[in-house]
Amino acid sequence: MDTHKQLFFRYLAQTSSSPLIIEADHAEGVYITDIHGKKYIDMVAGISVSHLGHKHPAIMNAIQKQLDRHLHLMVYGEFIQEAQTVYAMEISRHLPEQLDSVYFVNSGSEAVEGALKLVKRFTGRFEIVSFRNAYHGSTAGALSVMGNEHFKRPFRPLIPDIRFLDFNQPEQLEQITNKTAGVIVEPVQGEAGVIFPQDKYLKKLRTRCDETGALLIFDEVQTGFGRIGDMFAFQQFDVIPDILVLGKALGGGLPLGAFISSGRIMKTLTQDPELGHITTFGGNPLSCAAGLGALKFLDSSRILNTVREKGNLIREKMNHPLIREVRGDGLFFAIDLDDSGISHKVGTAALNRGVITDWFLFRDQAFRISPPLTITDKELATGCDLFLETMDDVQHGRIS
Ligand code: PMP
Repeated sequence: MDTHKQLFFRYLAQTSSSPLIIEADHAEGVYITDIHGKKYIDMVAGISVSHLGHKHPAIMNAIQKQLDRHLHLMVYGEFIQEAQTVYAMEISRHLPEQLDSVYFVNSGSEAVEGALKLVKRFTGRFEIVSFRNAYHGSTAGALSVMGNEHFKRPFRPLIPDIRFLDFNQPEQLEQITNKTAGVIVEPVQGEAGVIFPQDKYLKKLRTRCDETGALLIFDEVQTGFGRIGDMFAFQQFDVIPDILVLGKALGGGLPLGAFISSGRIMKTLTQDPELGHITTFGGNPLSCAAGLGALKFLDSSRILNTVREKGNLIREKMNHPLIREVRGDGLFFAIDLDDSGISHKVGTAALNRGVITDWFLFRDQAFRISPPLTITDKELATGCDLFLETMDDVQHGRIS
């Protein structure tokens, strides 16, 4: 029998030329253990998915209870399934009243697809505005609003009538007009390398959308569920979108996405054509139960109140001659080094030392820190120390 590593390269389709190649055995809390018994501290949480760490009892119990009741029963929106109805209500309870209609899908990309269809259907317009270095997923529609030509060129033609603006440039907001159906934006740009909006920028964007009748979509796939300290990033910036897109942590570690709007806007997908959006697995009951278990735990714990302090700890610790900039807040950080060569060297060496990091799609010179929100101060300090020791090694040529 081939080793699993051989099977991985032989049978699993690859699009990365340099996968991380940790052969996972089990995971608990902030630690992932490989088949050789090596323990890694997880400083990325599966790219902001495992916000309560691995195998959290609140999630495991919720999954177990749902397993005992039922799995998939019917395509989305036909049967009444408690896991979906209660989770949709609980999410809405955390949102302003105009965001009270939840359409569950399977992933962040799919939620983006739904949101893009919804703005067109509601406004009767075609044009979508997006931002340079935005990442919204890899399916055709989501790829169309990706703000990076390198990843798109070979896959054209994509959706036409997409206009790109530079993030944080308020003077460009005039390009949003009464031809614009919707504007899709990450309130904190993730794959661009954790770029926060400048003072009042999102408010100006909201105002421009109101002036022109364009719907505002916030993609909080990466920032949702406490990543930057508030349950949702838009609460920190005090700007309410017309449509909120969620994914990643939404499913508590299982696949789930959602686009959320008002009943008035969402209702347009029930007419001309009826069934304006369809999904077989969207809102899978197991994923909804897991997400609901995680949300109930977040509500009953003090974890969100600690996220910003933990971010301060990262800022204090991440001080090293190789570091050019530490950018982020809460538990969402990009650590900029000189160039991509050095960030890859540091990331790979960190992995060898037992700390998991990853890079950003559109910022080669940075590596990522976005651990589970449940990480303790001590664990966080350990993770940061391992990064610092790795950078020492790279700086002093102890790693080629
Ligand atoms: N939007 C944002 C902001 C994301 O970060 C991602 C995934 N990294 C997506 C959408 C796509 O989500 P998925 O990979 O679940 O399709």
